[in-house]
Amino acid sequence: MPAIIAVPAFRDNYIWVLRDDRRAAVVDPGDAAPVLAYLAAERLDLAAILVTHHHADHVGGVAALAQRSGAPVLGPAFETIPARTRALDDGDTVELAELDAHLAVIHVPGHTLGHIAYAGEVGGERVAFCGDTLFAGGCGRLFEGTPAQMHASLARLAALPAETAVYCAHEYTLANLQFAQEVEPGNAALAARAARDLARRKRGEPTVPSTIGDERATNPFLRAAVPEVRAAAQEHEGRELASEVDVFAAVRRWKDVFA
Ligand code: ZN
Ligand code: FE
Repeated sequence: MPAIIAVPAFRDNYIWVLRDDRRAAVVDPGDAAPVLAYLAAERLDLAAILVTHHHADHVGGVAALAQRSGAPVLGPAFETIPARTRALDDGDTVELAELDAHLAVIHVPGHTLGHIAYAGEVGGERVAFCGDTLFAGGCGRLFEGTPAQMHASLARLAALPAETAVYCAHEYTLANLQFAQEVEPGNAALAARAARDLARRKRGEPTVPSTIGDERATNPFLRAAVPEVRAAAQEHEGRELASEVDVFAAVRRWKDVFA
């Protein structure tokens, strides 16, 4: 059975490794060194490199890993990705048969304009590798895209089956949930999640993956349609917010200056 392992990098990045007992694929290797150390320790051959977007903390190790392993580099068509061998656009599929990974490409502009996510099944489990678009309890900053683009991208991810495991690229969860509780102090599912994830961090465990069901219930960036979220955003902005996109944009601006 294939497994999905977190290789930590930098301060708070997770490089996800899909592996069986002989081979591996990596998602967003921002640094080659920890990946090479893991592959060597586990005696794994690198079979594929998947990239979600062009930021250095996601692609910094790609060229070195590709050169050493000869593994193909799959990445977004509309961004400059080092050593890319296959350009992916919305609706493309990625089959890593030897790792029992069957993934569909979803174009999710917002954090960057060409950002893609990979969603499907690994070893029969539903998964999504969403880079810096959907975080556990939060979402990526809007460096290149508009609020409308990010809102639509998050809505596509939120529409995945509830049991889908969300493999995002950073451990930002506790800070995200602290902000989420500022927006929705009365959300009981959120309070329970915050307690659960705080306990995980105290044990030194990742809070990632979460699930799409967790995110729908507790992530304010997926909850612009919820009356309490709208009311909190309007209160924070001191004005009426006409649309869901306006609510989303207000929550994103609020988070940008929160703590
Ligand atoms: Zn990024
Ligand atoms: Fe990042």
